[in-house]
Amino acid sequence: MNIDLGKRDWLKMSTPALRRPKFSKGSDKKNVVDQQFIILTLKNGMKLVVSSDSFHGIVMIGKTFRCVLCDVEIETAFKEHHKSLVEHKKLLNKFPYVTEFSENLIRQINKINCYCTICNVTMGSVSVMLHIRTDEHIHKLNRAILRADTYKPLDVNNNST
Ligand SMILES: [Zn+2]
Ligand SMILES: [Zn+2]
Repeated sequence: MNIDLGKRDWLKMSTPALRRPKFSKGSDKKNVVDQQFIILTLKNGMKLVVSSDSFHGIVMIGKTFRCVLCDVEIETAFKEHHKSLVEHKKLLNKFPYVTEFSENLIRQINKINCYCTICNVTMGSVSVMLHIRTDEHIHKLNRAILRADTYKPLDVNNNST
């Protein structure tokens, strides 16, 4: 057992970032890799793990981000800051998950649009019923549920992925 752990640690150490090409040091990419996850517990007791960006309604458009709740563009450097804004947090409460879609985590973000937290996409309200039946959505939803089984808050310290 101990030997096994030692071996694994050694393997981790033996794969340094040295072989990465120099041009990959763009800081915008790092934020995507460092994406944090949030565990959500629904009223019915169901647990799901979604990325922090999805939870906050922040979608990636090209090289920048957009908060679909606040309807603003966010520069990468300010993404985490944006999540902490009072106005943004108010909107998280103002646009709760639509009860009838329960674990599909659909937020109604304005009169005509909804946001799917599972897929991190927006769509017209009329398309939601269709959307939650798509293979892609079902697959991502299942993954979010499975992740909840293995989710550990200590993931922040786990660099193996
Ligand atoms: Zn926002
Ligand atoms: Zn979806």
